[in-house]
Amino acid sequence: MPPSRSWRSYPQTYRLEAARCKGCGKAYYPPRLICPGCKGREFEHFRMKPSGTIVSHTVIRTPSSEFSGLAPFAVGIVEMDDGPRLTLQLADVGFEEIKTGLPVRLEFRRMYSEGESGVIHYGHKAVLVRK
Ligand SMILES: [Zn+2]
Repeated sequence: MPPSRSWRSYPQTYRLEAARCKGCGKAYYPPRLICPGCKGREFEHFRMKPSGTIVSHTVIRTPSSEFSGLAPFAVGIVEMDDGPRLTLQLADVGFEEIKTGLPVRLEFRRMYSEGESGVIHYGHKAVLVRK
């Protein structure tokens, strides 16, 4: 994603702004203009709670070039408590600790820096909620 476009989407991304369809109640992140479920066009925007549950996970050992400095790293599909599913890096965790069904919270962190220009990209990562 070009830096300018990435930058413009930060406020929405940072706030985890989602949209719930007024027709069928399904929540989407990022928000959509038309509901794929019921074709509704009216949405209620809301901020998702930064918490969810791991529903699937894997370890990336051969990532695309911008993430090559991070490999290996864990990635999971997280079902947010508000409904939408997000693909996120699972941070600060040993690969053997990761299990389906574990609760996570989202934290806004540095993701990677881009080539010579050193443009730094930020995004959400999921960390385990430890009891
Ligand atoms: Zn709908």
